[in-house]
Amino acid sequence: MTISLSHALVTGGATGIGKATALALAEAGVEVTICGRRAEPLEAVAALNPRIHAMTADVTDEASVEALYTQAQAARGPIEIVVANAGIASSAPAHKTTLADWNRILDVNLTGAFLTVRPALAGMAERKRGRLIFIASVAGLRGSAYVAPYVASKHGVVGLMRALAAELLKTGVTVNAICPGYVETEMLEESIARVMEKTGRSEEQAREGFAAFNPNHRLIKPEEVAGAVLWLASDAAISVTGQPVAITGG
Ligand code: NDP
Repeated sequence: MTISLSHALVTGGATGIGKATALALAEAGVEVTICGRRAEPLEAVAALNPRIHAMTADVTDEASVEALYTQAQAARGPIEIVVANAGIASSAPAHKTTLADWNRILDVNLTGAFLTVRPALAGMAERKRGRLIFIASVAGLRGSAYVAPYVASKHGVVGLMRALAAELLKTGVTVNAICPGYVETEMLEESIARVMEKTGRSEEQAREGFAAFNPNHRLIKPEEVAGAVLWLASDAAISVTGQPVAITGG
């Protein structure tokens, strides 16, 4: 798969899906800027491939994201692929969800995704090349119990993707969202720990419960999501835009 674009930004690139995506893009020859809030895990991933460059940034902070673009683009040229991947989850019945929790999830998952892509929009449209790839979720396509802010935020991300795809239709810039089912990452480990604590289930039972949410009863590997990012970033996917790409096991 040929990727003609030369510089990618992957938010949340230190762990899980972001880490697998950064490694896959770097192996495909792309310079990759990764960001997150914690420096140490970012630097550990950057040490794995000389094309990966670590920078701390918080996607909920407009100035922090702007500063990231300024520094990364000065060092490696225009960011031509944006993978808006940073995200957080929590679980509670809707009536017990506090406003603080609601705002925290929406801030990172939805407003953070908007702030992540906004600085790239004008330049990509002007150069007539670029790829915006949101890591949404199957929770962006259907409802699920006890995760109202997460589901709302991911539906918002799919809506944002559709709006931007429409806006950039004639520019040659494509905009898509990947919607995975449960993926084996740190986020899932935290969800498993929450289920064990709240229900008294064993780790194995909790893990099997999450796998059973995927129709094929198999947890997805981060590398499978990274494979879809590579395809959407590749020259072969130039006519794919405005699409939620489900990776759900059925
Ligand atoms: P991880 O918890 O491994 O990764 C999340 C990453 O986001 C971390 O590296 C974290 O780094 C970063 N992050 C969180 N908040 C911020 C912030 N405010 N600013 C910058 N970076 C931030 O989980 P996953 O790899 O599973 O999640 C990646 C994406 O995939 C998320 O959007 C998630 O919703 C989505 N997804 C995950 C699924 C799953 O089953 N795992 C299923 C479907 C979608 P740091 O804490 O250092 O900031």
